[in-house]
Amino acid sequence: MEQTIEPTLQRNYPMRLATSLGVGGPADYFFRPRSAADIQWALRFAEERQLPLTTIGYGTNLLVRDGGIAGLVIQLADSFAAASVHGSTITATCGCLYGSVSKLAAYHSLSGLEYAVGIPGGLGGALFMNAGAYDGEIGPLVREVHWVTAHDSGVWHTPEYTYSYRFSRLQEANVIVTKTVLQLQPGDQRTIYAKMNDLQERRRCRQPLEYPSAGSTFKRPEGHFVGSLIEQANLKGYSIGGAQISEKHCGFIINRGGATAGDVLQLIDHIQQVIADQFGVELQPEIRIIGRQRLR
Ligand SMILES: Cc1cc2nc3c(=O)[nH]c(=O)nc-3n(C[C@H](O)[C@H](O)[C@H](O)COP(=O)(O)OP(=O)(O)OC[C@H]3O[C@@H](n4cnc5c(N)ncnc54)[C@H](O)[C@@H]3O)c2cc1C
Repeated sequence: MEQTIEPTLQRNYPMRLATSLGVGGPADYFFRPRSAADIQWALRFAEERQLPLTTIGYGTNLLVRDGGIAGLVIQLADSFAAASVHGSTITATCGCLYGSVSKLAAYHSLSGLEYAVGIPGGLGGALFMNAGAYDGEIGPLVREVHWVTAHDSGVWHTPEYTYSYRFSRLQEANVIVTKTVLQLQPGDQRTIYAKMNDLQERRRCRQPLEYPSAGSTFKRPEGHFVGSLIEQANLKGYSIGGAQISEKHCGFIINRGGATAGDVLQLIDHIQQVIADQFGVELQPEIRIIGRQRLR
């Protein structure tokens, strides 16, 4: 059957609409695939035109610069989301929401993904970032990771998907993840739901979920908590333009309205400088900063 996807390729797509922080300039081309074949079509489209390529999920861990993104952005999100349960494994495409897969597991009395219930974003981003919370992370659950490039495809099995804190092999591989198989454990459904409700409540109390953000701005430095360091430095509520250090949780930068990526970047720089000066701690961004500095 003939491919009919070309018309859905969009030009100059505002990346602020594709990211939870709500900032960032336009992508030259923007594409939402519905299948692995669509992805390979888009990869070849980029290759033939020598366009740089960026893969994103729901943009909940991204800061896109104000100059936007050169080339093609492929977004694996709700148009590429399907999941099924087989015994105690879940097979899911990477556009599935991490939190929804956690709820699917609970529905089938499968334990292991409770920690993920409130983490926004999709499975692709979760695998890329080895996303986790409350002593859980996706890495130990991975049984298979399916990937594609323009001319190849393959599967990594458990030992081949290497990971550590907010790091996975995907950060060094030039592939798009399409699907994963996660290994869970049979559990008691009431206990699973109770744990999920508790973790959700902790998030609601502690995180500024009422404002756009990209989650924790910095990785946790060994022996410290980022939020406490920033609070001790009297930076709570400090803002530059529309970007503000959350008063509810200093580890988050929020968009109070009208923030630019430039505001957020300046705020990140300022925090890094102050924390380095006052405590000798080098904060490393957890959020992925991508895109070009300025529009051409
Ligand atoms: C309020 C809030 C709370 C958060 N809490 C947590 C938390 O508790 N723990 C945590 O770990 N994170 C947390 N995050 C960050 C974020 O939700 C996770 O990192 C999430 O897993 C990212 O998924 P995403 O689909 O949004 O990925 P994106 O932000 O779109 O992308 C993240 C990275 O993954 C890459 N990527 C995405 N999909 C693919 C793919 N299919 N193939 C190859 N590469 C891909 C992108 O290139 C990018 O570098 C939070 C964010 C917010 C806004």
